[in-house]
Amino acid sequence: MKKLISISLMLLLTLAITAQEQRQRPVQAGQGSQPPSEPARMTPAMTEIWEPEVPVVEPGAQPGMPPSDAIILFDGTETLLNKEWEDARGNPTKWIVKNGELICVKGSGPIKTKRKFNDFQLHIEWKTPSEITGEGQGRGNSGVYLQELYEVQILDSYNNRTYRNGQAGSIYKQYAPLVNASRKPGEWQTYDIIYTAPRFGNDSTTYFTPPRVTVLHNGVLIQNNVSLRGPTLYIGIPEYSVKKHGPGSILLQDHGNPVAFRNIWIREL
Ligand code: MG
Repeated sequence: MKKLISISLMLLLTLAITAQEQRQRPVQAGQGSQPPSEPARMTPAMTEIWEPEVPVVEPGAQPGMPPSDAIILFDGTETLLNKEWEDARGNPTKWIVKNGELICVKGSGPIKTKRKFNDFQLHIEWKTPSEITGEGQGRGNSGVYLQELYEVQILDSYNNRTYRNGQAGSIYKQYAPLVNASRKPGEWQTYDIIYTAPRFGNDSTTYFTPPRVTVLHNGVLIQNNVSLRGPTLYIGIPEYSVKKHGPGSILLQDHGNPVAFRNIWIREL
């Protein structure tokens, strides 16, 4: 009887050890209860996205001309000036149209678009007076304000030294242009501006994501997706004056110089 118990115990012990070994043995590929899944073999079609189809836009006939989805803001006519622009108080502007050029009238204040924009691509052409008067910031000064808050400086910066973060193509007092691509006074120049508006969270005095600006001056990249610190200030630190805001106008500055404009169009992004 004692022997029988010993044999039984030995047998149970052997079975237990065998079961333990089986649990510890690594499962070889193809030996588990689930067959191993082989990685799907990629085909070229798997990474092709067909829908929705990309919208078709007809480009301008020449570089700088508006594509078919642009909103024309100034085409050389008083009709469009009065339709799309107003002064800072919402009244008709006193800026004049002469020979298809929109000219700033000293003392009449800035003009702004009646429409308001968020993210956009803006094309604008401008010309500082051929007759040179003044120097530094006083020569051919105007500006393109994005959402009425952030100034891309317009200035005669052809042989006209001023502070680098205040010359033509600067984001005024924040970023100097990468290069000075200015043409001579009296010659037409272009800005192509790509703007991403800021996003705000619950805090109304800091950006969740800041405004970002890219500028090409006469086709030359001068601001490469720079991140703005706050609204443009003449005096002070921009980040201290951030306030939550929504869409805004394009505003052209009256800085007392008869700067001319033409061919202004915008694409909302
Ligand atoms: Mg200015």
